Amino acid sequence: MAIETCELTGTQSAKLVKCNYCSKKICMAAVKSQKRKEVGIRYICKTCWCSMAKRGAYKSAK
Ligand SMILES: [Zn+2]
Ligand SMILES: [Zn+2]
Repeated sequence: MAIETCELTGTQSAKLVKCNYCSKKICMAAVKSQKRKEVGIRYICKTCWCSMAKRGAYKSAK
């Protein structure tokens, strides 16, 4: 698995996930919250968490 750079903190990791709200590749330290859904796990990064619109979308996501 390739080593990639987190777009939020610059950390290099082979285990980056994609924020569902800004589509950035982020490390687990940059994930503010996550929840498992039928479609898979949804992630929201710390930046998106500061946006009321995106946070609201995360909280109401099915
Ligand atoms: Zn990071
Ligand atoms: Zn994000």
